[in-house]
Amino acid sequence: WHRWIYDDYYRSYLVPLEKYGLVIPHDLIEEAWNQIWNKGYVHEVAQFFATGWLANYWRIDPMTDDDFAWFEAKYPGWYDQYGKWWENYNRLSVPSGHNPIVFEDVDYQYPHRCWTCMVPCLVREDMVIDEVDGQVRTYCHEMCRWTDVNAFRPTYQGRETPNMGRLIGSREWETLYHGWNWADVVSDMGFVRDDGKTLIA
Ligand SMILES: [Zn+2]
Repeated sequence: WHRWIYDDYYRSYLVPLEKYGLVIPHDLIEEAWNQIWNKGYVHEVAQFFATGWLANYWRIDPMTDDDFAWFEAKYPGWYDQYGKWWENYNRLSVPSGHNPIVFEDVDYQYPHRCWTCMVPCLVREDMVIDEVDGQVRTYCHEMCRWTDVNAFRPTYQGRETPNMGRLIGSREWETLYHGWNWADVVSDMGFVRDDGKTLIA
């Protein structure tokens, strides 16, 4: 992760853009590292997408003992925080009259979605909210809030931004399908095969 953030992303990609006049937010590189390494971002992402497997066209395999050992060796303290949930994930991976894990009580709070990057607000301490165009929105981080509230506006720092993208329209998956029947969701997402079966059953 260190090499990816500081060498690949920062030194080879962002810093060279400075000579073209772009302002590079150097302190945000530290924050990226902080999020990924100290705040467990990558583990939260894995857990979130494993939680929602029934809404995907793929599912992460249950972990083996070797996997558990690998994570704990690579990320000391990992098991204390995520191990129990992944044990439950293993248990619930075999159909036996229970629901998919997202509907079972396994001590997991389904997160709000970030309006800007559309990844969920996975690091709780970084989640912020704001009201934009009369709508309360959640953001995974202050920078995503800034992007929506300040940057992606019709004017930015006094200048019109006609070519700027707009963070509007159909955005969060959870809101789009709120109140839908699950069978209709799966079919609407295009996860039904030609023979009428879904990809997972
Ligand atoms: Zn975000």
